[in-house]
Amino acid sequence: MFNLKEIIRPNVLKMKAYSSARDEFKGTAEVFLDANENNLGSLAGENYNRYPDPQQKALKSRIAEIKGVRPEQIFLGNGSDEAIDLLFRMVCTPGQDSMLHLPPTYGMYEVSANLNDVQLDAVQLTSDFQIPVKEVLASIKPTTKLLFICSPNNPTGNLIEPESIETLLDNFDGLIVLDEAYADFANAGSWTKRLDEFPNLVILQTFSKAWGMAGLRLGLAFASEEIISFLNKIKPPYNINEATQKLALQALQHTEGLCDMVEEIVQERELLMLALPGLATVEKVYPSDANFILIKVKDADGLYNYLLDKGIVVRNRSTIKGCEGCLRISVGTLEENQQLLQAISEFR
Ligand code: PMP
Repeated sequence: MFNLKEIIRPNVLKMKAYSSARDEFKGTAEVFLDANENNLGSLAGENYNRYPDPQQKALKSRIAEIKGVRPEQIFLGNGSDEAIDLLFRMVCTPGQDSMLHLPPTYGMYEVSANLNDVQLDAVQLTSDFQIPVKEVLASIKPTTKLLFICSPNNPTGNLIEPESIETLLDNFDGLIVLDEAYADFANAGSWTKRLDEFPNLVILQTFSKAWGMAGLRLGLAFASEEIISFLNKIKPPYNINEATQKLALQALQHTEGLCDMVEEIVQERELLMLALPGLATVEKVYPSDANFILIKVKDADGLYNYLLDKGIVVRNRSTIKGCEGCLRISVGTLEENQQLLQAISEFR
């Protein structure tokens, strides 16, 4: 049986959330002399001399509306990379606990495990990049606190079968971190609808991909109110800066453009999927539900360097186990994709 209190680190269980004088203060005031800010103003203009809202209330309330969850089920991070790191620090005692990930997958799970001195266990995805559920269940140890699932998976691009995710959610007493960074490009909806069913589910999303705000650094974790309250306790108080809160809130008032962008990217992806297999050097094009495509080519290093010479940067994934000979290519604009296809077709 999953019991959150049993997996939270003992020191985190004891911690109180950081709270500023301004948080605690309930009345109205005009003179703020509590946070050692520069009350004369800011060289950056506006009200950037003031610390941002540590609880990001306005932003969370808008995100809750858009995503159909309660604000108390949302954690905001400085990119979802920050949420990944905080999840380790919330449940894994360094030098003692372990995590499980399913490569080939997003590299930050491993980086964060290493950084936090958490033992890294791995079960390789199958040849069609699905989860070997029995093997994963057999690899879970008493010390396994986190299991990372990325769907659509980076760098392979495919969605993970929902039945596998559900079986793991039902049979794992640690936290399952389901990374939906690329879910907006897939036609499968989000697991946020099922949050109330699974007390051990943490869903990651990001504004860096479909929403086009990678430079603002804004990532999300959705989970039970209890899990979110622990994340809020351990986060740096001002982790989402004022410019990000302001600009993201502005952008979220006008979401009409989002569908058009996603539609265009998906359409461009499908055009690439049609064109790439016809090129002599391309051996395999993996199906994609994301905004990138994994391709297997005859000479990955050669093509990678050739494209660099042409001023086109893609990601060489050929040294990763399970992705031998593969390049990962983000879907660009129509013009960029044509440039890419032209360059690949000229490679000898
Ligand atoms: N998860 C996955 C699967 C990703 O590919 C990325 C970014 N490459 C992230 C999370 C991190 O996104 P963010 O910009 O929100 O830190």
